Amino acid sequence: MRNFLYILLFCFCSICWADSTMDLLIPSTAIAQRLQEVGMQIDKQYKNEELVVVMVMKGALVVTADLIRNLHIPVSVEFVRAKSYGKNGTSQGKLTITGLDDFNVKGKNVLIVDDIFDSGTTMKALVNIFKAKKTKSLRSLVLLLKQVPYETGYRPDHVLFEIPNRFVIGYGLDYKESFRELPGIYAFKDDKPPF
Ligand code: 5GP
Ligand code: MG
Repeated sequence: MRNFLYILLFCFCSICWADSTMDLLIPSTAIAQRLQEVGMQIDKQYKNEELVVVMVMKGALVVTADLIRNLHIPVSVEFVRAKSYGKNGTSQGKLTITGLDDFNVKGKNVLIVDDIFDSGTTMKALVNIFKAKKTKSLRSLVLLLKQVPYETGYRPDHVLFEIPNRFVIGYGLDYKESFRELPGIYAFKDDKPPF
């Protein structure tokens, strides 16, 4: 009982702290609602055929976990790792993608899932790589799309939310590996990171 009260207190303090230092852009309830809608669309698209969901680690971890629980078709999950952010946590660095050779998707339906589409460089690179793997079908889904000019000319097939051009955290998205656990999507107040 005492442990339970400590956990409740911890959750309450975390949420109060997040609310005083961050702006809530998208609450968890809105994300759950969108995932239900998009889940139904995806179910219809594949008509009970098997789907390989390729999760782009680490940011897409939470959205992928919730997405697959809104699907009613046979699903398997693979992952690749994409890294592009530099040491300061919010500036873009060189893109590296690893884990591509650990699974075979030839002749399969593939859905690439990423957390956020910013310049589009990451998703465009992944789509080009997967195209060469001769999949049966290839689509992409992102939780967030930033309202910035698209440099790549590519747009994901499914976008859960469009957001302003601010650095965001929560629901899998990090700042220096922190804040992935927040249940909604937040931006730092005045866009100033706390550390
Ligand atoms: P892009 O290649 O589209 O410019 O950037 C995509 C990747 O950069 C995303 O997969 C994500 O890891 C990271 N990213 C871009 N914008 C943000 C942001 O606002 N917050 C966080 N945490 N990561 C971001
Ligand atoms: Mg990412």
